[in-house]
Amino acid sequence: MAIMVQKFGGSSVGSPERMRRVARRIAEAADAGNQVAVVVSAMGDTTDDLIALSRELNPRPSRREMDMLLSTGEQQSIALLAMTLQNMGYDAISLTGRQAGFHTDGAYATAKILSIDTGRVREELDAGRIVIVAGFQGVDSRGEINTLGRGGSDTSAVALAIGLNADVCEIFTDVDGVYTADPRIVKKAWKMPEVSYDEMLEMAAMGALVLQPRSVELAKQYGVKLHVRSSFNHNEGTIVKEEANMNKDMEKELIVCGVAHDMNVLKVTLFGVPDRPGVAGDIFSQLSRLGVNVDMIVQSGSRDMRQDISFTCGRDDRAKVESIMQSIVRQLPAENYTVVDTVAKISVVGAGMITHPGVAATMFKVFSENKVNIWMISTSEIKISCIIDEDEVTKALLSLHTAFGLDDENA
Ligand code: ADP
Ligand code: ASP
Ligand code: MG
Repeated sequence: MAIMVQKFGGSSVGSPERMRRVARRIAEAADAGNQVAVVVSAMGDTTDDLIALSRELNPRPSRREMDMLLSTGEQQSIALLAMTLQNMGYDAISLTGRQAGFHTDGAYATAKILSIDTGRVREELDAGRIVIVAGFQGVDSRGEINTLGRGGSDTSAVALAIGLNADVCEIFTDVDGVYTADPRIVKKAWKMPEVSYDEMLEMAAMGALVLQPRSVELAKQYGVKLHVRSSFNHNEGTIVKEEANMNKDMEKELIVCGVAHDMNVLKVTLFGVPDRPGVAGDIFSQLSRLGVNVDMIVQSGSRDMRQDISFTCGRDDRAKVESIMQSIVRQLPAENYTVVDTVAKISVVGAGMITHPGVAATMFKVFSENKVNIWMISTSEIKISCIIDEDEVTKALLSLHTAFGLDDENA
């Protein structure tokens, strides 16, 4: 008997009708003779709605109470899904993160799964039940509820597949698989039949929401093959695995496998920072102490023993960043600072760029032809990212997709 882990995201269970469709999908897998463990996210926009509600009562709520609140979204959907299956005549049981044995590291809002004790889940599966597990949550050694960061149910599913040594791990979502760019914006994007862990990890880390980056990291570490597919149809999706052949057309060698964008970017610039050793260390350790996750950093050349330092982080950190910047400007002292939330990051990703020079040149040429201004640039072995104005993102995505030969001409 095979063990299957199936994960359904928020939009797949966003209404009673969708919940029933998901239940039928799970029932199919059970009817085929599999033991089925399901991970489910909160329904539709529940998590966003809970965040908005909390902000009305406290603009800077504590991380502990946020985790207490947000974890309830998944607790609703597991119970509702289990009831739906029971109503169809199936024996199903819902389990919270704690009941399913997810042990986390205590970091509210950004917790990592330290271990998973699958005893209870196995017991229920062996008793012939379909097990519905709450994604996105675990408990730390003190019994505190932790959430795993936005999109964290993907990581719960991969962890459960590892813990159960599952034969199959399917990630059901609202698109047909992993595309060369967000298919909602780039109509000529095409679904990759396969993608390697490394490329998927960069795509996800650069903003392709379809998988949480941590879930890809875990899948790579334990060699779990993922099947990302639609909960609305039975089409084959995308297989995420070690070595992938992502070429739709075997004749054509693609250097870039995808273009990703991330709107959750805040650009902060400190002007007139004294040019002396230890200043950057001081600024970034203050940011890290408050849990601000800094992404790109750019330092301008020195003039009159002063320089400008820019960095990016997520927009959620705005309040923290503002308070740190105010005190840094006074302490150093620096001249002043700006915080801009109308920028976005756009990245091209592909293992082919290790051996093929010229990707950056092509990217910059596309931006210059389209009059897109670049604010910051960063590179890694298999990706190049630029910060641009957010209202240029669609134009930039479409033109980069074309320039790197990714357009599906039949779309
Ligand atoms: P779920 O609720 O199933 O977890 P998400 O909203 O987290 O779904 O992720 C799916 C969304 O990711 C899609 O609706 C799509 O708009 C977006 N997306 C962004 N980039 C890509 C990509 N390269 N391939 C597929 N989907 C992408
Ligand atoms: N409900 C959580 C979120 O919206 C977790 C998830 O959907 O994976 O981020
Ligand atoms: Mg998601």
